Amino acid sequence: MAVQETVDHKYVYDFAEGNKDLKDLLGGKGANLAEMTNLGLPVPPGFIITTEACKAYLATGEEPAGLAGQIATHLEALEREMGRRLGDPDDPLLVSVRSGAKFSMPGMMETVLNVGLNDRSVVGLSAQAGGNDRFAWDSYRRLIQMFGKTVCEVPGEEFEHALDEAKRAKGTTNDLDLDADDLRGLVDAYKRIFVKHTGREFPQEPREQLDLAIRAVFESWNAERAVVYRRQERIPADLGTAVNVVSMVFGNLGPDSGTGVAFTRDPGSGAQGIYGDYLANAQGEDVVAGIRNTVPLQELEQLDKKSYDELLAFMARLEGHYKDLCDIEFTIERGKLWMLQTRVGKRTAAAAFVIAGQLVDEGLIDLDEALHRVNGAQLAQLMFPRFRLDHEFQPVAKGIGASPGAASGKVVFTSARAVELAAEGESVILVRRETNPDDLNGMIASQGILTSRGGKTSHAAVVARGMGKTCVSGADEIDVNVPAKRFTVAGQTVNEGDIVSIDGTTGKVYLGEVPVMPSEVVQYFEGSIEPEHIDNPLVRAVHRIMTHADGKRRLAVRTNADTGADAARARRFGAQGIGLCRTEHMFLGDRRELVERLILARTDDERDSALAALLPLQRDDFVEIFREMDGLPVTVRLIDPPLHEFLPPLEQLAVNVAVAQERGEDVAKEEALLAAVRRMHEENPMLGLRGVRLGLVIPGLFAMQVRAIAEAAVAVTRAGAVAKPEIMVPLVGAVQELETVRAEAEKIIAEVVGDSGVEVLIGTMIEVPRAALTAGQIAEAAQFFSFGTNDLTQMAWGFSRDDVEGAFFWRYLELGIFGISPFESIDRDGVGRLVRIAAEEGRAARPELKLGVCGEHGGDPDSVHFFHEVGLDYVSCSPFRVPVARLEAGRAAVETDGSDSR
Ligand code: ADP
Ligand code: MG
Ligand code: MG
Repeated sequence: MAVQETVDHKYVYDFAEGNKDLKDLLGGKGANLAEMTNLGLPVPPGFIITTEACKAYLATGEEPAGLAGQIATHLEALEREMGRRLGDPDDPLLVSVRSGAKFSMPGMMETVLNVGLNDRSVVGLSAQAGGNDRFAWDSYRRLIQMFGKTVCEVPGEEFEHALDEAKRAKGTTNDLDLDADDLRGLVDAYKRIFVKHTGREFPQEPREQLDLAIRAVFESWNAERAVVYRRQERIPADLGTAVNVVSMVFGNLGPDSGTGVAFTRDPGSGAQGIYGDYLANAQGEDVVAGIRNTVPLQELEQLDKKSYDELLAFMARLEGHYKDLCDIEFTIERGKLWMLQTRVGKRTAAAAFVIAGQLVDEGLIDLDEALHRVNGAQLAQLMFPRFRLDHEFQPVAKGIGASPGAASGKVVFTSARAVELAAEGESVILVRRETNPDDLNGMIASQGILTSRGGKTSHAAVVARGMGKTCVSGADEIDVNVPAKRFTVAGQTVNEGDIVSIDGTTGKVYLGEVPVMPSEVVQYFEGSIEPEHIDNPLVRAVHRIMTHADGKRRLAVRTNADTGADAARARRFGAQGIGLCRTEHMFLGDRRELVERLILARTDDERDSALAALLPLQRDDFVEIFREMDGLPVTVRLIDPPLHEFLPPLEQLAVNVAVAQERGEDVAKEEALLAAVRRMHEENPMLGLRGVRLGLVIPGLFAMQVRAIAEAAVAVTRAGAVAKPEIMVPLVGAVQELETVRAEAEKIIAEVVGDSGVEVLIGTMIEVPRAALTAGQIAEAAQFFSFGTNDLTQMAWGFSRDDVEGAFFWRYLELGIFGISPFESIDRDGVGRLVRIAAEEGRAARPELKLGVCGEHGGDPDSVHFFHEVGLDYVSCSPFRVPVARLEAGRAAVETDGSDSR
């Protein structure tokens, strides 16, 4: 046997040969069965067929050479160990054939129980069970049902229907009331269904049953629903599944038998305790299938104290061993406990933090590991407001939590109606079967989006996440009728204008308005909960892990903020400065008039007077921000967008002028504006007269801003605070641009600052690919670089950021051209390469060069890890993302093994 196996590729492993680290080869279920076996827990003996065998089968449509022989060898060994032969008429060994991929895909793939039963061995099984006919026939009908459905594609409803029919004939709804004769009759009915759909008799040969079931598990890897699920969860398509062949133990032998599931902690809240469900006299899936009402696991203590105590001991053992929350499947056969599955259990975001904190307390893991076990996406989820749910509110439907948050509002079915109602100040939920690019305005106007079709990468989901809007997608119980302006769900009709509430985290949909409560975690970050007074276990865990992350991280975290209020909030959230203060809002509102004067100026004097009027307004803005950020650096970006963005749109102006002319009014000013707008019109404004180009073309504009910054810094410093301004020039592509701006700025700074002690740095954004590629030259003139990864992505890919996400990204995601929008998470290979080049060459030219990033990517978990790897000094992100960036920067610093951040 050993000789043969070294010749053949090894496709089959005994449980004793595996362990929990072999998930790639043995799948999660198999690896953990092996681990439990080796721990000495009572696992029914069995063997595992590897994912490699599955991949070989899927590639060729045939079992690879050697597989059949290896299965025979392992089956014989199993038969010897159990003292029974598969399907033996007098004393049959029965097995389950269970799928199990590397990542758990709940309910996606197939399992067949009781393989080995046939018309003869069913009699033997009964005799071995002490003449328990009922049990034997119940097991047989289950085999035909599962085998028919999963191996031969017989519609499952047909079996369900026959079962219902048998119960009806008996005048009961409880399957336990069916006796041996009823079940024998049911087996006959099932066999007829089998013949009808497959054109053949139910296979009686045990080894044939086994082989067909194994093949079906292989094939279930490519079942439609599994493919869809993998795409949604971003599980690679080429992993394949392992197959576990496990000797059967029986929970359906009578009241002293049963089956259950257990969690070592509450996967919802993380609370310690015993959570699970138990069902007496039942097999396998009955617990989750809701066939009968389960009892809470605690009640097992009354039913079977010995098994209960043993189970608790095993659970403690597994937790100690895996050092994490485990979930477990078990079966009790006549008072003997068997462990059928375990894995590190899924959990909510809150539970992830709480459990990590508890495990540190228990000495099972250290704080580095705790930090590794949580992530920024979970933290972000905990920062959204939540619905205040009590029993009054029951969801009417559940879709996919496509974009987190909690939103309530009036139902609308069209984009136009959404815009209309929103303009009246209503909060609205846009409900569609699926959205398309025409719905964009409606999506912007809505509080949330609800669709009945599509997954996490549907148009609605992608666009909503991009906009930070709550979205539930694929709620397929909802029947949307757009022309009739209504949807129906669970027998109820919801009309336009009715109120619904959607939870973008859980995917649940509620009728009516569910009250919203603020996040405790945000309250803590805002400082309204003192660390010493935290009694909420979640907040305590967050505090502890965040403190550790702050201690470990090498990246500083700054914020993007344009106002004193934003700056103050971000500072409370832990921002260590401002990485991007945009100045364009300082040209809006009642200041537009000054901008118009600036644009229309015919002489130097007119222009200078407009600038002079803007100067004190700008200075006041900066004073407020510098004061809030006392002692911390503030990077101010000189004006970036094209100036005509501050003028009214062309069409509107044209109409105004025409109407006024009609009335014979004096339209000289409007005409001049109109002419200016026409003159300044650009086909590609994003690539037009903006950023540093504006500064070079409009004399005095940048000079005014530089003066306002310097004067504000001096004023704040004189008042006793510390201002640390950093002036950032946008859209630089060539060092000469920066040199020109810098020469003028330095003169003004020297003049304003005098002996006040204020120091002003001058640097540039790196957001044009040419700047990244000539970073060595640009660094000669820059004291810092800040990567503007939004524009850099836009220009590196040639994607118009404002158009493409809604227009076609869904298709790109569907095709797998990228797994996530490059505007959401940095494209490491392309845009990231530009960042690397610029960082390396910039530092080579000027070792003390400060490097940061101020695009949206600064708050994206994966991107933060990338910026850590590249060695930037800081990331800057919107105030709400600051805690997320702090956490992820900490994780990046403790993750030495290079494992991915998800
Ligand atoms: P899933 O991955 O969908 O949970 P499983 O392979 O775990 O599927 O099996 C389905 C059900 O059958 C589970 O409840 C499991 O505990 C039960 N089961 C699987 N194998 C056996 C066995 N050998 N003896 C008894 N019950 C089993
Ligand atoms: Mg299972
Ligand atoms: Mg930019």
